[in-house]
Amino acid sequence: MIKCSLCGLQFTEEDAHSACTKCSFFKGCKLIKCPNCGFELALEPKRNKKLKKKNRRKQ
Ligand SMILES: [Zn+2]
Repeated sequence: MIKCSLCGLQFTEEDAHSACTKCSFFKGCKLIKCPNCGFELALEPKRNKKLKKKNRRKQ
């Protein structure tokens, strides 16, 4: 889950991609757009494995 730093909404990466229509042309886009307020977040690098929990992905 991704948390918007602006409005605090939690959403999935899929939600973000569907909200960001421009970036559907660029699959390499690293920005995530909040479906609620439209605020664009940058994906953080996957360094923090310490916080990683066993989360099942819904796909
Ligand atoms: Zn937001």
